[in-house]
Amino acid sequence: MGLFSWFLDLLFPPKCVFCAKILDKSDDGWCDKCVESLPFADNQGRQDGEVFDFCIASLYYTGVVRRSILRYKFAGASYYADVYGRFLAECIRECPDMEYDIISWVPLSSKRERKRGYDQAMLLADAAAFELNDVATETLVKIRDVQAQSELGDRTERSANIRGAYTASNPELITGKRVLLIDDVVTTCSTLDECASVLLSAGAAGVLCAVLARGE
Ligand SMILES: [Zn+2]
Repeated sequence: MGLFSWFLDLLFPPKCVFCAKILDKSDDGWCDKCVESLPFADNQGRQDGEVFDFCIASLYYTGVVRRSILRYKFAGASYYADVYGRFLAECIRECPDMEYDIISWVPLSSKRERKRGYDQAMLLADAAAFELNDVATETLVKIRDVQAQSELGDRTERSANIRGAYTASNPELITGKRVLLIDDVVTTCSTLDECASVLLSAGAAGVLCAVLARGE
């Protein structure tokens, strides 16, 4: 460890991204206790979409995972992306029929990104792609802000809310390609279905999804 990173650790001691306990060493980003008790998702029961092929998830969106992701999205903990990326990459690697050509993500609108300072799904896609010796590529742009999906009820309501919110930013890049779309949390799949239908209309050959956490 260099002097600078030693000094940084002293000033900002590394904490477990899940329970926020101070760690002894800075390499992993999570504590032993959390790793033993994390709610890893069962991908035998992975979700099928109406438009995309299927969606795998690393974890369930509950308990420490939920609280961690809320800090990641709403409290500036953007550096969690590196740790999350390792979890997600592992999940993608382990999935037997995960065949894709391009890794991409579900983007924020530029207005929301400016407000937050970062696009959390893009950071997650970058980190996961890095672990997979790949790079994440932009394929979608969110052209209008909609009411937060979490504030709405069932799938029909969410689908109507999100319709027309995205457009393909790079159609020539995705023509005939299978796109792996990454997002942080999925509940009803309405957003992923909408994004997948935009990509398929723009010429993509197929869309698969991988998320850090999904509703139980
Ligand atoms: Zn922990």
